[in-house]
Amino acid sequence: MKNGKVYLVGAGPGDPKLITVKGLECIQQADVILYDRLVNKELLLSAKEGAELIFCGKLPGRHELIQEQINQLLVEKAEQGLVVTRLKGGDPCVFGRVGEEAKELAERRVPYEIIPGITAGIAAPAYAGIPVTHRDHASSFAIVTAHGRAEKEQDFVNWKALAEGIDTIAFYMGVGNLSRISQQLMAYGRSPSTPVAIIEWGTTNQQRTIIAELATIEQQAKEQQVESPAIILVGNVVELRKSIRWFDSEISIPSLASL
Ligand code: SAH
Repeated sequence: MKNGKVYLVGAGPGDPKLITVKGLECIQQADVILYDRLVNKELLLSAKEGAELIFCGKLPGRHELIQEQINQLLVEKAEQGLVVTRLKGGDPCVFGRVGEEAKELAERRVPYEIIPGITAGIAAPAYAGIPVTHRDHASSFAIVTAHGRAEKEQDFVNWKALAEGIDTIAFYMGVGNLSRISQQLMAYGRSPSTPVAIIEWGTTNQQRTIIAELATIEQQAKEQQVESPAIILVGNVVELRKSIRWFDSEISIPSLASL
């Protein structure tokens, strides 16, 4: 009855060349592309002529409705026999709701593939000259979101475990929660002098990196008017930027004067 298929594809973190070969092929072959806000629009230039491009930017407070509509569209288009590429920023399995979309497809017996991508929590630090692990400085790395929980008084983050047990922590969707992130880590024993980097628009030509310590990062971020999307990276590996900074090395950033 149907030969449609859905590809759930990671578009990479920003630099359009950081998509996988397989991901790019999915863009080139798709009849329909549904893409998120953080996907670099340059990638859409590779779509074939006549491909339908559908923007799925999420409206604040209306996630559920929108997500349901997206799920529905994926199923409908595939059932019409079309090749559908669902493009998500970074990796689709990292805060990308791929689990919900794939579940819907599985339940409706629509064939699909998941194509991984390069996630911002690793790529943005890399472009800032910060490897998330290092033989001498960090043997563990966690990807965390503290998004929106504080206001709702539900906090699913195990702050104690993070503060005590994880060397490098990448916080996603954390700009509005910076105060809570730094307070909690220090409350559970992480040193106030732990280096922190905030990397805004990582891997794009707007990339900006702000360096401070746990105790000072909130203030720094305010002064520098940090905005989303940004990765907040906590851990001693941040120090490595001093010696291996590369991508943004020509840009002079006042807050880095002391480095
Ligand atoms: N699936 C994506 C993450 C989606 S959640 C991935 O794997 O990267 C959205 C969050 O990702 C943003 O709030 C921000 O914290 C982070 N992010 C995405 N793109 C980014 C970029 N270019 N620079 C910095 N952070 C980014």
